[in-house]
Parts: sequence; structure tokens; C-alpha cells
Amino acid sequence: MILTLHAGADADTVRRLLTERGLWTQRFDGSPVQLFVEPHSAAVDPDELRRLPGVARVAVAPSTHPLLDSQPREVAVAGLSIGGAAPPVLMAGPCAVESPAQIDELAEQLAAVGARFLRGGAYKPRTSPYSFSGHGASALQWIRRAADRHGLYVVTEVLSPDDVDAVAAHAELLQIGTRNMQNFALLHAVGKSGKPVLLKRGMAATVEEWLSAGEHLRAHGCPAVIFCERGVRGFDPSTRNLFDIGAIALLAHVHRLPVVADPSHAAGRRDLVLPLGRAALAAGAHGLLIEAHHQPGRALSDGAQALAPADLTAFGLQPPLRALSLHAQNGIAQ
Ligand code: PEP
Ligand code: MN
Repeated sequence: MILTLHAGADADTVRRLLTERGLWTQRFDGSPVQLFVEPHSAAVDPDELRRLPGVARVAVAPSTHPLLDSQPREVAVAGLSIGGAAPPVLMAGPCAVESPAQIDELAEQLAAVGARFLRGGAYKPRTSPYSFSGHGASALQWIRRAADRHGLYVVTEVLSPDDVDAVAAHAELLQIGTRNMQNFALLHAVGKSGKPVLLKRGMAATVEEWLSAGEHLRAHGCPAVIFCERGVRGFDPSTRNLFDIGAIALLAHVHRLPVVADPSHAAGRRDLVLPLGRAALAAGAHGLLIEAHHQPGRALSDGAQALAPADLTAFGLQPPLRALSLHAQNGIAQ
């Protein structure tokens, strides 16, 4: 924002009033004097600044993501509020859906510790073409059935525009993975599905690039974007990724967008998932996406970072909900 002052206005007094509102300013001593308010120094209503003594005009730079700005702070996914003042939501499940029995057992255990979403990949993006890449369409049915049996919603990744319809028919929330954050053809196809999206941050993406990817989704019809910080590439292999707590705070408190945290893929090791998840909640995360497995040693992918379902109570999130009939309520295809 740029504030242009009246001729003869006391610029120091105006600056002090802005500082008291938590705003950082730079002064340009032209004629008239202008004050440049640093973007994101604090949330402020331009109309309030227009009313300050000494201020003649306030110019607001157009947002690079107007459609995200128009999204409510608290979004609804199949009737469940996420973001804003809503209680943080727990999304949990295995890295990959491995079998009907595995996902059903986990769904039961995770519902019992307060999870609201069951996660699990049907289509897995794997670095190596020789790694397990998911059971595809069958796994979509298994996760849907398990979620319905235990009163959970489904969040699962979509890898290809060809699979959008199938994934959208089985999940309340469509996940875009880190490797696809800037796959614009996929973002557009997913946006057109009309489903809310969990948009993971690209592993080398700036926050602005991440927001622009969210704007792509909104521009193609996505009703609600929930951002997910999962760590970015660092230089130190001690953890799998560098968990960007600052980005969580920025999205939650400055951009006021729904943001959940995935400490599992950030840490890559189970001993750090709990402290990182707690840190994310303290920074303002509106939920956690946690990998859990009842037999981590036998997991087909990411076993090293999987927690046992019982460990999830330590995050201190909401108490379990008992058997809700969500399936009929949400009109998900059988
Ligand atoms: C996942 O959540 O299953 C996953 C593959 O995560 P990411 O895209 O963050 O690597
Ligand atoms: Mn994983």
C-alpha cells in the first residue's frame, strides 16, 4: 500500500500511527510525501488508513491471488470447517493403501484417536519407477469403504488429469502432491472437478509460487484450497526435508488462508513427527496430515516415518467422533 500525505502533514506522526498498528513503513520524501507500507507487515483495512489525519490517498496494489483472497478464512469440506477459528483437524493414514484389510484396520484405529480424514495413496508418485506405486482404482474403493465404515472423510492424491473423475468420486478432498504443485494441466483439471483441494507445497517452491498454484485451482473452479506445508529441500540430510514453520505462520496469520502441516514427510523419521507437529500447531496450522501404520516395519512405503495410531493422541487434537454416516450425507458415489 502507498499512502500519499496532504501537503504540510506531519509525516512522523502518521508513521507513528502506522507503527502502532504493527505496520512497517518506508518514507519517500517527494512532494507530497509518500509512505510505503511493507506488504504483509500486518493485516489492515485500507479504509481505516484513509481516515488517519494527514493521509490524502491510499493506493492498494492489486493482489496476485484475488480469488484466494475471496475464499473464506474458514472453508467447509463436506460440512467440516477447516481454517480460521475452527478446531485443528487430524488427517491420518498410511502412505499407501496396501490392502482392504490394512486400510480398514487403520481406519478403525485412527477414528478411535480422533482422526476426521483418512489419508492413503491409491496413486503414488515414486522417485524410482521400481518402487511400489499404489493399487490405483481398487485402492480408491478400499479407502472409501474403510472411511465409511468408521465415519471418516477421505483425502487422497490425484496424479493425472485422467484420474480426476475417479478420485473425485471417492474422496471429499483431493490432494495435489509436492511433485505436481506446478503441474498446471493437473491443477486445471482438478479445479474443474469442483472439489476442495489439499495443495502441498512444491519441494522447491517459494510461498508466492505456492499461492499462485492455489490461484490456478481457484481460477478453474476449485471452491476451497487448503495449503499443506510438507517441507522443502534443504542442504542437510539429517531430516528428509526442511520444515518451514515460517511459511505456516505466514499463511495462517498474514494471508489468513487454511493451512495444514505434514510433519511426516518433513521429518522422514518417526521420532521427530510429534515435536514438529506440535510446533506446526503452535505456529497456527489448522490441522495435521500424519502418516500412520499399524505395522510400520511392513509398510510398502515410508515406514520409517509412520507412527502407530495410538501415538496420535499425543498431538492433543479433538476427541474421537463416533460413527457418523458421512457417505450418504456427502453424496459420494458408491
Ligand atoms: C503423500 O502425502 O503421500 C506424499 C507423496 O507426499 P508429498 O507429495 O508431500 O511427497
Ligand atoms: Mn508417504
